[in-house]
Amino acid sequence: MKVVKFGGSSLADGQSFQQAIKIITADPERWVIVTSAPGKRHDGDTKVTDLLIEYANQTLRHEDTSSICQTILQRYQAIADYFGVEKSALQPIEDALVNLPNGDYPDKNYLMAAFKAHGERLNARLMAVVLNHLGYKSRFVDPSEAGIIVSGTPNNATVLPITYDNLAKLKINDDERLVFPGFFGFTPTKHIATFSRGGSDITGAILARGLKARVYENFTDVDAIFAANPNVVKNPVPIKRMTYREMRELSYAGFSVFHDEALIPAIEGQIPVNVRNTKNPSAPGTMIVPENGFKIASMVTGVTCAKHFAGLYLHKYLMNKELGFSLQILEILKKYHVSYEHMPSGIDDITIIFDRDQLTDVKVDRICNEIQEKFDPDTLRWIDDYAITMVVGEGMNHQVGVMARIAHAVAKHHLSLTMVNQGASQISIMIGTKGEDADEAVRAIYDEFFNSQEKEND
Ligand code: ASP
Repeated sequence: MKVVKFGGSSLADGQSFQQAIKIITADPERWVIVTSAPGKRHDGDTKVTDLLIEYANQTLRHEDTSSICQTILQRYQAIADYFGVEKSALQPIEDALVNLPNGDYPDKNYLMAAFKAHGERLNARLMAVVLNHLGYKSRFVDPSEAGIIVSGTPNNATVLPITYDNLAKLKINDDERLVFPGFFGFTPTKHIATFSRGGSDITGAILARGLKARVYENFTDVDAIFAANPNVVKNPVPIKRMTYREMRELSYAGFSVFHDEALIPAIEGQIPVNVRNTKNPSAPGTMIVPENGFKIASMVTGVTCAKHFAGLYLHKYLMNKELGFSLQILEILKKYHVSYEHMPSGIDDITIIFDRDQLTDVKVDRICNEIQEKFDPDTLRWIDDYAITMVVGEGMNHQVGVMARIAHAVAKHHLSLTMVNQGASQISIMIGTKGEDADEAVRAIYDEFFNSQEKEND
């Protein structure tokens, strides 16, 4: 059995629904379907999830919501009309939408989560209606019925292990397809909580693990995951196969086709993930597979960069002899609820790298002041513009000269490196540059490993 998940752009209107249904019905193994909310139909369009966020905000501000509610309803109505579905079949969708403000929500965050979740909840209902209308027996399964139980905050939930016991007990009839909404589950107190944005991928992975799928097919709007961002590198090569951990490392620094949290259930269940294109279903896409038995095809699998980092550089003579130095720094960070990403160090200096998006300017100033006062370092420098480039490949493991090739490629472009870090797994090398140099560093490294003569010898 295969779990097939369709992203928002693959279910944005009647035509894309039809294409998704063609894919579902082309393979008898595809009987568990996961929907996203209708996404953008064209540039400048608004995703239904974003319309629902607006609907929630207007509700919270006690404004008139009739217009936004109609706009959302029309998105579902247009899909139903495309297939000539009778009006009465849409009534439950309209009722659920109109009644959202009357729900029982412990606070405004739960309200927001419940509104957002209805993008997928109503789309899955509609998909089941349309499939039945076309003669394909199907059943909508709500996460409350399936027992998808989550904890954490209402808009950033994580799945609880009990979910897998519940899924194992789910009643399944051989003659019908099951349509699940992505993106949300229920808390132990039976309130809706969503995963982080883009989280329908996570539901697909949970179901693939819980229902023991042979493969999890994730249909989106690209032919494959590419070895570099096509906006940075011209015509990068598609990745045919990669391991879970390669994907994990690359998504840390910008590969966003597949939600990084969705990898975890897939890894736990050792379910291969196949990222494919709804508009070009004959393309094989990218397989993300277990490390065990993986056949290495090239030294480097992908190169990517992320520019949302910042660094704190500290220099103090004899830092290496000072007992508890880094411990005390970490205590200051903990006090401000700040986690660090990396901490490369030398004899007398250390750089602490942060995710800049998690820090306000006020927090940065306070942390710097406190470190200055407590340690009186010879140098304290805040580097607000810090980018990390990741070079990832199972083929790099135990290879001689990988770092030399990276350094040589970057040096040819006169880019200076602020940090080099090789993960213990030896399948990734991370380099730090100024934000403005990062794209060029990616191009230089990509050229070195994918376009140079040595490539043939990899
Ligand atoms: N509809 C949700 C979002 O836009 C989840 C998803 O599409 O996966 O974030």
